Amino acid sequence: MTTIATPLMECRGCGATDLEMFVSLGKQPLANHLTSREALDQPDAHFPLELVRCGHCGLVQLSVTIPPDAMFSEYLYFSSFAGALVENARGLVERIVSERGFGPDDLAMEIGSNDGYLLRHYVDRGVPVLGVDPARNVAAVAEQAGVRTHVAFFGSDTAANLASEGFKASVVHANNVIAHVPDILDVLAGVTQILRPNGIFVVETPSLQTMFETLAFDTIYHEHVFVHSLTNFSSLLSKVGLEVIDVELIPVHGTSLRITAAHPGRQEPTSRVAAQLTSELDSGLGDPETYRTFGKNTDAIRTSIIATLQDLKRDGATIAGYGAAAKCTVLLNSLGVSGRLPIWVADANPHKQGRCIPGVRVPVVSPDRILEEQPDVMVLFVWNLLDEVLKQNAEYRSRGGRFLIPIPAPKVV
Ligand SMILES: [Zn+2]
Repeated sequence: MTTIATPLMECRGCGATDLEMFVSLGKQPLANHLTSREALDQPDAHFPLELVRCGHCGLVQLSVTIPPDAMFSEYLYFSSFAGALVENARGLVERIVSERGFGPDDLAMEIGSNDGYLLRHYVDRGVPVLGVDPARNVAAVAEQAGVRTHVAFFGSDTAANLASEGFKASVVHANNVIAHVPDILDVLAGVTQILRPNGIFVVETPSLQTMFETLAFDTIYHEHVFVHSLTNFSSLLSKVGLEVIDVELIPVHGTSLRITAAHPGRQEPTSRVAAQLTSELDSGLGDPETYRTFGKNTDAIRTSIIATLQDLKRDGATIAGYGAAAKCTVLLNSLGVSGRLPIWVADANPHKQGRCIPGVRVPVVSPDRILEEQPDVMVLFVWNLLDEVLKQNAEYRSRGGRFLIPIPAPKVV
């Protein structure tokens, strides 16, 4: 790969040059680019993985820009393999369709529609859909499931083209995608263009406040150009003429913000909006010192995870891993050790099996290996799916197997 990362000189939201780096995880490979067998003889491309905060507008963002087509043209993250995400999507769609009385005259759109894990629930309820996703391979899977999908990056140009073809959305969803695009204002401008006068824009994105509270530094990766707070996101929305009307905290990827926006003056904001803004202020998100503290805590927890793995190894424990998610790549590469790496990482996604975690090159295998080999400890990289994973692996645990939950402090269960 010859992709070049461009250092950030100006804030992506306001153009200010006053950027302070507050956490660095060193040079890392692209977290979702699992290394294929054919590529094993070539090195994985590495880029600095650091977050900066804009001293002017407060936006938290990556210190470098990597061209998005390097990251998303062949995306291996099929949302439908994450049961909790599919359940979240189903519940959300049911609620929106019934609250808003959507039917055949409406249009539900999703930016980054992936394999259609969300829009298919609208299809089931007779609401027309249009997904937009740049990854050809996942879009093909969506089409097979009956989810009409336009293969493109979403932005103001794509929105203008679609609008001229008569597409106007009653709802635009953007789940775990809005943090991924460097040119955020262009995407939001596209949403404003394509939204019907009474339409709503529903965004789910990991919460900066929660990342700080849970020390979830492994949710920092190159695909996440931004880590948003409601405070920062609502000021971006206001730049393109949209207004926040509701916010909820939902248990996806740890905790995410689900923000609903609309054209201004259409709907009275709920009391939850003011409450969340106050909570963010109270938790210190306006204070640069909060960010520096997070950086120091991140260094401390990495040291602590390394010590725990060393202790387990010294006791003769075999160590494997569970969940070849982006978090796994980030955590393993940030520890920067060989010899204490898991022997393999189990993951149910067949598209990931047979590949390796980039950088550290740990193989990804089928979960069948868990009971076949019964490793003493498995590092739970997908700690956000703890309950689901414990339930699925009751047999492993009943035979004495244990999980090491790395975040927010290493704990063996
Ligand atoms: Zn700024």
